[in-house]
Amino acid sequence: MLVETCLRKGLGLKAHRVVAVREDGDVIVAEIDRIGRRRLRCSGCGGAVQHTAGRRPPRRWRDLRLRDRPLVLAYQPYRVRCGRCGVRVEQVPWAAQWARVTTALARAVALLARKLSWAEVAAHFGLDWKTVAAIIREAVARGLKLRRWRPLHVIGIDEVSRAKGQRYLTLVYDLERHRLVWAGEGRTGDTIAGFFRWPSRRRDSGQIRNSARLRKVFRPERGLSAA
Ligand SMILES: [Zn+2]
Repeated sequence: MLVETCLRKGLGLKAHRVVAVREDGDVIVAEIDRIGRRRLRCSGCGGAVQHTAGRRPPRRWRDLRLRDRPLVLAYQPYRVRCGRCGVRVEQVPWAAQWARVTTALARAVALLARKLSWAEVAAHFGLDWKTVAAIIREAVARGLKLRRWRPLHVIGIDEVSRAKGQRYLTLVYDLERHRLVWAGEGRTGDTIAGFFRWPSRRRDSGQIRNSARLRKVFRPERGLSAA
């Protein structure tokens, strides 16, 4: 099977195909284009759209590695004329709207991040720390949308920093269910205050208990310490 066909099947492309696979230094680039005038998806409503209105500049998405080489998908998205939404950019099937990596890579990163440190995950996939952080934040947000709210009884607080220690993220885990439930920029008392404000409905319904007591543990003046 041609590598183009293999990629098209792996990515589940219906209106697009891989027109060429080439090397760009160390990186393998799969060039994607629309098949004829097949219907595209509107990024506003997800509906199928026939008519287009020009194209956006070329974009690239990092995908899972092809053997041991980095693989990127290259494509110039169409603007589509949607009956409901007006002119929108098309929704490509391989990535979320503003994502810089494919859904397949994002899933793999989120999965591995449960087992390895973010630095190890970044090194494993050849991504920078910022990209890994963005993927995990997105995965957390998506998970929260799908998940039914459950009371948080025991939380753990962790912080991660970039290699040079200039930027930090604060992570809140549900220790009973071993899940990451929240991630915020920074590592100050304001950061953790953001967690307690989020979302206020949840706190007001009593689902986060003892929040006043928990808050004392963090001693904002010293930055965060473990709960
Ligand atoms: Zn639409």
